[in-house]
Amino acid sequence: MGKKVIVIGGGIIGYCTAWYLTGSGHEVTILERSRADDSPSYNNAGMVVPSHFIPLASPGIIKKGLVWMLRADSPFYIKPRLDASLIRWCWQFYRHANSRHVRRAAPLLAEMNQLSRCLFQEITDGLDARVNFKSAGLLMLYATHKGEEEEKETAKVAASLGIEAKNLNNSELNELDSNISYKAKGAVYYPGDAFLDPAAFMKSLEINLKSRGVEIMKGMAVRDFIYENRKIHSVLAGDRFFEADEFVLAAGIDSADLAKKAGLDIPMQGGKGYSVTIDNPGKMPGICSILTEARVAVTPMGNKLRLAGTMEFAGKDVSVNRKRVEGYLKSVAQYIPDISYGILKDKTVWAGLRPCSPDGLPYIGRFNRYPNLIAATGHAMMGLSLGPVTGLIVTDLVNNKMPSIPVRRLHPDRFH
Ligand SMILES: Cc1cc2nc3c(=O)[nH]c(=O)nc-3n(C[C@H](O)[C@H](O)[C@H](O)COP(=O)(O)OP(=O)(O)OC[C@H]3O[C@@H](n4cnc5c(N)ncnc54)[C@H](O)[C@@H]3O)c2cc1C
Repeated sequence: MGKKVIVIGGGIIGYCTAWYLTGSGHEVTILERSRADDSPSYNNAGMVVPSHFIPLASPGIIKKGLVWMLRADSPFYIKPRLDASLIRWCWQFYRHANSRHVRRAAPLLAEMNQLSRCLFQEITDGLDARVNFKSAGLLMLYATHKGEEEEKETAKVAASLGIEAKNLNNSELNELDSNISYKAKGAVYYPGDAFLDPAAFMKSLEINLKSRGVEIMKGMAVRDFIYENRKIHSVLAGDRFFEADEFVLAAGIDSADLAKKAGLDIPMQGGKGYSVTIDNPGKMPGICSILTEARVAVTPMGNKLRLAGTMEFAGKDVSVNRKRVEGYLKSVAQYIPDISYGILKDKTVWAGLRPCSPDGLPYIGRFNRYPNLIAATGHAMMGLSLGPVTGLIVTDLVNNKMPSIPVRRLHPDRFH
């Protein structure tokens, strides 16, 4: 018999979870704080990336980060502040930024991302064509010799994990995507990756979920948990109590503060990123790309082009740092001259927070203290990509089935 499930948070993780729960016969209500479609789930770079198997906490990142910290227009920044949760997070991050952790985490992320990529195909088949799901792959563009060496090294690891990767020089790159001209030195091409318009995906998913009987209540911020013994009995949202058999915590970066209300601790920091979207920019790439040294994502979405970048750890501040935005937008022309700063500079900038765990792995699993509360958060820069597989794992947990992906390393209590 189906269970009653409350999903807290109507972002990509909440929607994908509802998709698989309802497909499995459960009665699902999503409680979403916002009435506007303004979360990272709508404004991200739209990349579905089996090629992204290296967690943020990896060797070399700390040295690179320290160098970047010295530049006002760099793509990475940690705002120094005396905040116990930030200090603890940084310590955990430091402990995981090594090759031993990457050796353990990479196969798991690769397996999750590859399964999720297949699930995207299934989900998007039944959605609106405006989702623009394109199985055209991803280019990791590099402009320098050092960038080339690093990307080729990653491509070797990808191959060892069964992920197809092709090295392209500049002329092979321009031949592969003749829609636009590339100045980059070369690229590693991952043909198995894909991209879509995330806002169109969310909207089409929402219509589909409602037609399957999922109740989506917007403007409903969950404020507290009511518990009895070792069970969550209900949540308080607005001035109403919502009872259920199972609760899924999928509130993005706010999941950490909400967990605290139940006396639970999931270390997370918001990684601020920006995106700028231009309509009909003239020339458009046919394949999405990451400008590796500049850390910028470039994605065609129908007749729109989105450029996303930066990772700033500045608490929950989502104000726009113009210098940093200018820095990342100006770097694009070094790789793709047709996308000049002139066409980008006066566009509206969206800013939002990626929910980042210190080890770069999401939190997916039942909390020990309240086993009917399931964490589904902490996906950092892979939340779109890992949305479907997360929904599938959570549904297996609700069904008391062993998930097809081993979830021990994703346990929400793993830092205790
Ligand atoms: C610039 C940028 C580019 C990115 N590009 C990519 C990409 O190309 N590919 C990729 O895979 N990932 C990308 N990401 C990451 C991805 O967007 C996130 O990992 C993903 O959106 C996380 O989804 P979520 O549902 O956990 O959180 P969110 O998208 O933050 O959604 C959480 C929802 O919970 C709601 N909520 C919060 N508190 C409460 C509460 N108390 N009660 C009820 N509801 C609440 C919020 O309003 C929100 O709607 C990018 C992120 C950024 C910032």
